[in-house]
Amino acid sequence: MYNTIKLPYAYNDLEPIIDEETVYTHYNKHHKTYAENLNKLTSSNIPLEEIPKKIEQFPLKDRGQILYNAGGVLNHDLYFQSLNRNKSLPKGKLLNKINNDYGNFENFKKVFISKSKNLVGSGYTFLVTDENGNLTIINLANQETPLSYDLIPLFTIDLWEHAYYLKYKNNRSDYIENIWNKANFDHASTLYENLF
Ligand code: MN
Repeated sequence: MYNTIKLPYAYNDLEPIIDEETVYTHYNKHHKTYAENLNKLTSSNIPLEEIPKKIEQFPLKDRGQILYNAGGVLNHDLYFQSLNRNKSLPKGKLLNKINNDYGNFENFKKVFISKSKNLVGSGYTFLVTDENGNLTIINLANQETPLSYDLIPLFTIDLWEHAYYLKYKNNRSDYIENIWNKANFDHASTLYENLF
């Protein structure tokens, strides 16, 4: 059985940046539906994060839907862990690498925001690392996961309309900028620290 992570904070903890109703619906309806759909498609016990690399082990007719729904669970697990009631900045090895590659966190944030604004359609902006610790900021469409490209996702912003539309309507840029007040880099820092 595949499952979502437990939401690591209360539905109203991201107020006023992301409203309670959006967080409730996004987690309980959108996120959980990806897990439910994945469980309807397969009873495999391949770990969730290994599905993208082992997709050939599933029946050809189901691969597209399995990859889509597994990506939906993985991407939302990371998105909800990329936010918190109180924002936190990168530390340790991740902070050093960001300072080295982008000059400082503020500049990194500018590059990430600019990338998010360039995404067309539904998808995510990710901070990813390759197996050597090289950082990149990428956009992926729909529920594609960086794991399909041998990249490890560290931090992500969901740019589907359901992530912001109730509060921000067509003002996606405001969501893209405001969300940094709730950005949690403790999780990304721990992931990166444990990898390298
Ligand atoms: Mn979403």
